[in-house]
Amino acid sequence: MAEGRKRAAGNTLADRLGRLGLRTDADFVMHLPLRYEDETRITAVAAALPGVTAQFQVEVVSAEVAFRPRRQLIVRVADASGDMLLRFLNFYPSQQKVLAPGATLRVFGEVRGGFFGIEIVHPRFHVVRDGEPLPDRLTPVYPTTAGLAQSALRPMIRRALERSDAQGELADTLPEDVRSRLKLADFAASLRFLHEPPPQISLAELEARGHPAWRRIAFDELLAQQLSLRCAYEARRARNAPPLPGTGALSGRLLEQLQFKLTAAQQRVWREIAADLARTHPMQRLLQGDVGSGKTVVAALAMLQAAESGHQAALMAPTEILAEQHYRKLAAWLAPLGIEVAWLAGSLKKKQKAAMAAAIAAGSARLVVGTHALIEEGVEFEKLGLAIVDEQHRFGVRQRLALKEKGLSAHQLTMSATPIPRTLAMSYYADLDVSVIDELPPGRAPIVTKLVAEARREEVVARVRDACRAGRQAYWVCPLIEESEVLQLQTAQETYARLAADLPDIRVGLVHGRLKADEKAAVMAAFVRNEVQLLVATTVIEVGVDVPNASLMVIEHAERFGLAQLHQLRGRVGRGSHESACILIFAAPLGETARARLKIIYENTDGFEIARLDLGLRGPGEFIGARQSGLPLLRFADLDDVALVERVRNVAEEMLRDWPQAAAAHMKRWLGGREELLKA
Ligand code: ADP
Ligand code: MG
Repeated sequence: MAEGRKRAAGNTLADRLGRLGLRTDADFVMHLPLRYEDETRITAVAAALPGVTAQFQVEVVSAEVAFRPRRQLIVRVADASGDMLLRFLNFYPSQQKVLAPGATLRVFGEVRGGFFGIEIVHPRFHVVRDGEPLPDRLTPVYPTTAGLAQSALRPMIRRALERSDAQGELADTLPEDVRSRLKLADFAASLRFLHEPPPQISLAELEARGHPAWRRIAFDELLAQQLSLRCAYEARRARNAPPLPGTGALSGRLLEQLQFKLTAAQQRVWREIAADLARTHPMQRLLQGDVGSGKTVVAALAMLQAAESGHQAALMAPTEILAEQHYRKLAAWLAPLGIEVAWLAGSLKKKQKAAMAAAIAAGSARLVVGTHALIEEGVEFEKLGLAIVDEQHRFGVRQRLALKEKGLSAHQLTMSATPIPRTLAMSYYADLDVSVIDELPPGRAPIVTKLVAEARREEVVARVRDACRAGRQAYWVCPLIEESEVLQLQTAQETYARLAADLPDIRVGLVHGRLKADEKAAVMAAFVRNEVQLLVATTVIEVGVDVPNASLMVIEHAERFGLAQLHQLRGRVGRGSHESACILIFAAPLGETARARLKIIYENTDGFEIARLDLGLRGPGEFIGARQSGLPLLRFADLDDVALVERVRNVAEEMLRDWPQAAAAHMKRWLGGREELLKA
């Protein structure tokens, strides 16, 4: 027990290393510096410049503890050219002892101009041994974690590098042919160079990652990702799935009785999906389409094709609200065809759930819509042919694995309303075929976006009143408070109370994440029926809610939201033919990023363009957060470079075909035992 607690506290050296992903020599070797420090030369104190980081060799003149403005150790040091102060706000008696007058130190840090001349706050320092040489290499600074000093990490990495080198484990995994064709630097030399760069190299060039050594590492990293995702793709492709060619009998009738015609983009993706379903290996396709682009009807068509071929089809959404919406829509579309849609969610009574599970197992429920309750234990499909997952990234890894098990030999379609920039799709989604609906249904009134300062909230409230009196409906999204769910809830309740008081003749509803599923569903249903005119909400309404009569979206503290979220929220309106508006209330002063984000959302309506600009702001790390639970993030490769991603993809295909052993060695080096996760 005690040991368990100790392990949970995570304080051993191994725990700390583990947090950095450092276990094997290979992990250490691939742990590359963030930046470098130049300790290869000594600067004269008189030549020190404020703002510049440098190393000095000095003698301690005096050391004293001052108590104002707070307790600190102030050490005066000097070399032949001049003197300066070292200031320590936290210090140990042992340090105090070392910093005695007469001691010779090497001091490294950023110089600043202080009241008493130049000084360094908390410099790194050590006592110089007699005749101690200067390092002849730049000093690497590694990513680390609390309690793990650079000075501890460096020798571990150095030893791992030596051991790996001696054991021949740094051998190049790229075939010579590929290397020379793409003019890539040697792997081992690149690694050694990055861990211990020679002093004549420019720090700026090294840190900008333009050096051939960095380029080699970035190439290898991307290549490993491509290789593993392509392998996962091929492995699934090698499995059998029931061909579901359909007859067109049901899907044709659905198309006939719909009140609209599919857009050209919907027709194209539908053809792609229909063709996949007819094959004897499982479809693994991602259907991307901006909010409101009409993915649901495509999903319905695919499900009907499965049914035509005598199989079951399931559509799963991450929240009950969303799942229920799909259910309603499908049920309404399919009722005239005489087809029943089954519903399974966590909120069903135990008995109903059991009955539904039985119907699914017996195969009498052919088309099923639900939440992850669908893949939970106890639900066995009689003959599942197609599994469709909406907004898959919102499901947890465990649920994705469960789905994988359930649908092992079923065709799989994933839908996403989060547009992904092309390079990201090409890299992180290399294990999927991708279809894109890149066109919105016609006749949508464009959404006008307005930025309004908080001081003008009254005007916004008046606008909500006008819209509701004119028969429209509105959303009011409460500020996101990431630090505290309790505060978030409280704010939502206060906003609700305030708006209800301000708008006595308007029916106001409140929906937030703490409501029980059925309470949530009840509020949403009332909003759908226009019994609630103004829906005050936290971000639970973020994905997929479809109420065409809603024409006004108000987002408070819009500066706190991410671009994807703002875009999703804005997409809740403009779904009918009414003039729609999205009002972003912001609180001044805006930080630089918040300002940039609001400018982007104000100026752009195309989700893909917004995603591309967002990637520029945030980098892929956060962007792809969606998948991070399973997929190692790229640490070195920069996805701005479309040509590079394309080149790497081609090399990956070539290696899998012509040099499978090299491909395997390459994946092992970069992914170790982690490939399994990729397949989730
Ligand atoms: P999303 O892609 O965000 O899931 P939905 O499938 O919810 O979008 O579709 C948004 C709205 O557009 C729905 O009300 C849907 O019925 C409607 N719709 C879908 N396709 C078309 C079309 N081709 N023409 C007109 N309306 C369409
Ligand atoms: Mg949708």
